[in-house]
Amino acid sequence: MIPFLDLKAQYAKIKPEIDAAVERVIGSANFVLGPEVTAFEERFAEYCRTSHCRAVNSGTSALHLALLAAGIGAGDEVITVSMTFVATTAAILYSGAKPVFVDVDPDTWTMNPALIEAAITPRTKAIMPVHLHGLMADMDPIMSIARRHGLVVIEDAAQAHGAEYKGRRAGSIGDLGCFSFYPGKNLGAFGEGGAVVTDQPDLVRRVSLLRDWGQEAKYKHVVAGYNYRMDGIQGAVLNVKMNHIESWTDARRSLAERYDTLLSDIQLACPQPPWYSRHVYHVYAVRLSRRDDALRSLRDAGIDVGIHYPVPVHLQKAYAELGYQPGDLPVTEMLANQLLSLPIYPELLPEQVAEVVSTLKRVAPLEFARDLHGERDQIPAGPINRRAS
Ligand SMILES: *Cc1c(COP(=O)(O)O)cnc(C)c1O
Repeated sequence: MIPFLDLKAQYAKIKPEIDAAVERVIGSANFVLGPEVTAFEERFAEYCRTSHCRAVNSGTSALHLALLAAGIGAGDEVITVSMTFVATTAAILYSGAKPVFVDVDPDTWTMNPALIEAAITPRTKAIMPVHLHGLMADMDPIMSIARRHGLVVIEDAAQAHGAEYKGRRAGSIGDLGCFSFYPGKNLGAFGEGGAVVTDQPDLVRRVSLLRDWGQEAKYKHVVAGYNYRMDGIQGAVLNVKMNHIESWTDARRSLAERYDTLLSDIQLACPQPPWYSRHVYHVYAVRLSRRDDALRSLRDAGIDVGIHYPVPVHLQKAYAELGYQPGDLPVTEMLANQLLSLPIYPELLPEQVAEVVSTLKRVAPLEFARDLHGERDQIPAGPINRRAS
């Protein structure tokens, strides 16, 4: 039995540190914000190589506040992707703006920059790329299009703690970067959590106000804000985990390399990170032509796998009013049908990776290459360079 994720194994390894930190918060009664949260903010800003960080109560709140801080609201449009968790779209709708989806690149599965300009209208105010599975979107063309058109860029880095693009960290390239510390993310709290990072003093000031009821001083509310503050216990837990994030990321990357090697005979099925990216493998997904059969067979064989995500946001019933139809985003829809996420977490053993791959090859022997090659021919090649080799 190989689980998809094992949070208990991680806690077992750091229990004394975590328990002491949680007791410290309880003993000091700093339950909301407070010194542990401030210490975490300083550390996380440094980790992202940004000047500022503000911790909030979820990744969704982080996205919502980033949009509000950037002045985005009713009547505005935000260009984003449908190949993501629904929170990206939900946050745009919370702000009052309208999400406009562009398709993703067939190799990297992130926003296809070649499609952005056709989606820009006089109402467009921002671009929100998603660093899916821990691989950063192609930020250089996204930033140059944004600058040319005067648009704000907000990175959804909820899956990409410590990921890099040409040596720059996730969250540090756009005007604002948003992170989630949901327990299963690469950096996970013991409950909900999130953060906004930025280099711009005016934006961090607005995020600070908006997350805490718009209070400039106690009971002096200068803007209509929210209760989006981070708990003290989450700040303390995250501070402890910051001691380990780099080694955990290294472990994920070496497990991914093991998957890449064992799957190299069916290379097109694997993720294709461009040469300049540091992928942090929140998810390791492969493409399979008969994905749902493979999923059932793997689960029957005791290997827990997942799908991120089986129905793209633009085809979800909840967002039908946005007016999208099947066929509108062909690459996103193809990937939703083909991607299968294999177990990956720092405590997973290399032998377990080998077992996942051998089981996959046994239960789905012909599912990879042949059909995929055929289908790939009908999909325009992505604009992004392949891995240098
Ligand atoms: C997890 C996630 C979010 C939302 O974060 P929460 O902390 O769950 O609110 C947003 N975007 C993406 C891409 C995510 O994976």
